[in-house]
Amino acid sequence: MIFGKHINKYYLKYSWMILLGLIALVSVDFGQLKIPELYRMAVNGLNNGAVEVDGVLHTFDMDFLLDEICLPLCIVIVMIVAGRFLWRIGFFGSAIKVEQEVRFKMFDRCKDLSQQYYAVNKVGNMMSLFTNDIDTIRDCFGNGILTFADALIMGGMALVKMYRMNVILTAFSMIPMVFLFIAASLVGKKMSAKWRERQEAFSNLSDFSQESFSGIAVIKAFAKEAKELMAFRVLNIDNERVNVEFVRMATLMNIMITLFVESVICIILGFGGYLVYVGVFDAGELVEFILYFTNIVWPIMAISMLIEQHARGSASLNRISELLDTGIDVKDSEAVRAAVEAGDTSVIDPEIKGTVEFKHLNFTYPGSELEVLHDVSFRIEAGENVGLIGKTGSGKTTIVDLIARTYNVPDGTIFMDGHDVNDLPIHTVRKHLAYVPQDNFLFSQTIGENIAFAFEGSDDKAAIEEAARYADVYDNISEFPEKFETMLGERGVTVSGGQKQRISIARALMKNSEVLILDDSVSAVDTKTEKTILENLRTTRKGRTTILIAHRITTVRHMDKIIFIDDGRVVDVGGHEELIARCPAYAEMVELQRLEDERKERE
Ligand code: ADP
Repeated sequence: MIFGKHINKYYLKYSWMILLGLIALVSVDFGQLKIPELYRMAVNGLNNGAVEVDGVLHTFDMDFLLDEICLPLCIVIVMIVAGRFLWRIGFFGSAIKVEQEVRFKMFDRCKDLSQQYYAVNKVGNMMSLFTNDIDTIRDCFGNGILTFADALIMGGMALVKMYRMNVILTAFSMIPMVFLFIAASLVGKKMSAKWRERQEAFSNLSDFSQESFSGIAVIKAFAKEAKELMAFRVLNIDNERVNVEFVRMATLMNIMITLFVESVICIILGFGGYLVYVGVFDAGELVEFILYFTNIVWPIMAISMLIEQHARGSASLNRISELLDTGIDVKDSEAVRAAVEAGDTSVIDPEIKGTVEFKHLNFTYPGSELEVLHDVSFRIEAGENVGLIGKTGSGKTTIVDLIARTYNVPDGTIFMDGHDVNDLPIHTVRKHLAYVPQDNFLFSQTIGENIAFAFEGSDDKAAIEEAARYADVYDNISEFPEKFETMLGERGVTVSGGQKQRISIARALMKNSEVLILDDSVSAVDTKTEKTILENLRTTRKGRTTILIAHRITTVRHMDKIIFIDDGRVVDVGGHEELIARCPAYAEMVELQRLEDERKERE
């Protein structure tokens, strides 16, 4: 059985199923304990020709055999079969429901965790929480209730029967069992630690595999297959080692159980044989006693299994609880939540036209000591076409990520149409934004579904095609045999980098939101395509704000405004000519890029 903050409530929620299982289990145990009595009657009947039932002596004939032994045995067997079926439904059925609900809670939590969390926690580790650990929880819940209840009911009832038959023999039989219990508890503790190690080894393995498959192109390009294979081998061997150690302990536990159980059988046979010899027991009673004992072997094993299972379950539940208890660091403030609950439309749905303003923003990434943005201030009017330019690492992506509230920002530093972004629900801020991130991630769906991603289930073909045309990818898509119905493989591997980039642009364009952010989104396309896309952006996004991050001056020179960033600071803001005239650093960058372009042309 397994207990914990995230599990306890399910015992109550599925109490009706658990109760059904318990009733079935009691019937099964009751039936099983009837069998030794029937055996005693058969043995004594065969031995003595007469059987004592409730103090009355009956002749052992065919009628007695059929009516008092065979018929009850058949009824008991039917009862046991039906009961076993029902307790499986009750216990395992509820465990599957718990598994499904906890997994859903985990996914729900994962969707709210910030990018920072995913930057620190590896995907492989998360995947093993969703597979191995949750499977263990299910096993511990269902099997746990079964083992606990069975140990208690069957063990208790069998012990009472044994006790009633002979107190001293029962006491002798129990001595090795006490040792078994102590030994099993000690081994169980070690098994728990090993289980955790085992889960960690498995997550390292799945982390590594996941990363290798994602980065397979880099591995091949650098001819590092052999190195990767060796590294995988090390992790695989480590995984094997931990598993072997775990299985070794589980085997030790099994051997201990067999040893103790057999030693008790020896005691019963020895001392019980003596009791038959002195006339305290008859042969049938000895058989009955031994059968009762075999019925408590399972409950005793069940207790040690319970200890081991509990150990595994708690290790997995701790790992899952860590995820479920992870605080959501990027979330709406108390005041915003209260306003949303009160249905305050001025907060939930304010009029947003697309003005974006930064006021003296300093920013340091969580967990880092280095400030990456220093005193950043600028204003973008609604409907402006703005270029964000600067060297790699100067802070451009950080700026746009902060507009999208990917990280927390201090109050009074970022505004949308005059509203502090911290005073608006994150959902509202993002609703008015469309973002083409550097990693043009596409889902394993059709191209059409990827483009219409913002509109769940939309099959507005005209809008999808229009967005693809503006992103200059329509012709490419039309060349695919299935056109917009073409399925993309995991991470969109069936399309080129440039096509992927343009499909991502189409996805953002279709959303048609007040603010469009493109982070280095035309880097993988040729100059002609870049020109077409920029021209289309200018015409289709009239009256709506567009922020385009670029490295090349040629990409942004015709924009309404250029924000020039260097080393986390806004160096200057203005039109291209204006900046050349008054900002020496910008002029120098223009000159450098011009010389570089000339050199490339000559080559
Ligand atoms: P750009 O988009 O101009 O290339 P970025 O905004 O990506 O620059 O990065 C600005 C700085 O912030 C860099 O020094 C980078 O190393 C740092 N940085 C980016 N992301 C993180 C992060 N998640 N945690 C810590 N530092 C980061």
